[in-house]
Amino acid sequence: MKTIKKKEFKINGLIDKPLYEKLKCSCDKTDMEKMHPIKKCLSCYSKITLNSMPRKSFDIIEKDKKGKKHTRIINEITIDRQELDIVRGWFF
Ligand SMILES: [Zn+2]
Repeated sequence: MKTIKKKEFKINGLIDKPLYEKLKCSCDKTDMEKMHPIKKCLSCYSKITLNSMPRKSFDIIEKDKKGKKHTRIINEITIDRQELDIVRGWFF
């Protein structure tokens, strides 16, 4: 029986000690209105954007020139960072 080996998911642009890890949360957890996202907190924001990054392969549907749909497996992404190394987004 043939086994299909799954390709490992690759993330480009990972760094060891991103600066945002040094940020302290400035939210008042007893008051929703003094917490992120109502109150801007870079520490919470950096965690949200980091967690929104995929960690495993995913499929996208693409159309070719003739308009025919194809499934493409994404095995690799690249991180886009903003100031303090915060993950702004990612692309493939
Ligand atoms: Zn916070």
